[in-house]
Amino acid sequence: MKAVRFNGVGKPATVEDVPRPEPGPGQVLLKIGGAGVCHSDLHVMEEELGFRAGFTLGHENAGWIAALGEGVGGFKEGDAVAVYGPWGCGHCHACQVSMENYCENAERLGGAGGGLGFDGGMAEYMLVPAARLLVPLGSLDPRQAAPLSDAALTPYHAIKRALPRLAAGATAVVLGVGGLGHMAVQLLRALAPVRIVAGDVDAAKLRQARELGADATVDTRDVEAAAAAIRDIVGPRGAALVLDCVGIQPTFDLGARVLGRDSRWTIVGLGGGHHDFRFGSTPYGCEVCTPYWGGRAELMEVIAMARDGRIRAHITEYPLERAPEVYAELKAGKVVGRAVLVP
Ligand SMILES: [Zn+2]
Ligand SMILES: [Zn+2]
Repeated sequence: MKAVRFNGVGKPATVEDVPRPEPGPGQVLLKIGGAGVCHSDLHVMEEELGFRAGFTLGHENAGWIAALGEGVGGFKEGDAVAVYGPWGCGHCHACQVSMENYCENAERLGGAGGGLGFDGGMAEYMLVPAARLLVPLGSLDPRQAAPLSDAALTPYHAIKRALPRLAAGATAVVLGVGGLGHMAVQLLRALAPVRIVAGDVDAAKLRQARELGADATVDTRDVEAAAAAIRDIVGPRGAALVLDCVGIQPTFDLGARVLGRDSRWTIVGLGGGHHDFRFGSTPYGCEVCTPYWGGRAELMEVIAMARDGRIRAHITEYPLERAPEVYAELKAGKVVGRAVLVP
């Protein structure tokens, strides 16, 4: 079968022929319906994150069950499912409360999940090591569902933790309206009565943010001007939440300038920005956090929201073979919404 392979840091992904896997006891074989193309794959390919070369990329996956390994119940062939991405040990406290994204044994597992150390979903078939990592889709199309497993789950997890601060009259600022950001705007709209300000460097993405429910948008190419524009909107109270989906130095600097007192500064973008954290470097009561992905039960909630029409991933489909060029477009900032590879 065809698969998009990680060939080591500094090398481009390539489409190769690999053997179709067979599910062992407890495992599930999926026929992939769609695999989201995530910006963090670019970090995997360009930075030393500790991944060994030689696995199939794709950590936003959904499809249909093709075969069940021995002893797997609760599913049948043909069921549409999304794959929960961060694969934990399955038995520590974090995993038991479905937060495998915070697995206590993460360092010892040899990879972070399918497409992140283990074979992922940019292929015709994917092996999932345990049925607990699958979420039924019901009527939702796997191509629509695939990006939800990261691009929606990650901001959902971040926003849920910020909800006590997101009362009416408060403002949430979303920086970066890419794959995660375009879901974050919809999630905020569905979850909280806040005003939403979205910032990006691209006019098409700002237009999309307004269509998806942002009350105001700000061009962030000039950090000083953007900070002034956002402060104009939020007033002296400042932002109750800054959700930074980019994480580069300019978005760090911008976020720091618009936060209010007793706020939450959440960075989910892996852009490598830096903040000199000390007393006085943020307003009083500001919580700074870098959450990672989300929980299994939270993925069920995200899928339920999509099935009920409260959120929708805006996707562009590409054949699997075009993965290298889609990565190039993503790197150039040309993808609006989420690109999904369809084998
Ligand atoms: Zn991702
Ligand atoms: Zn664990």
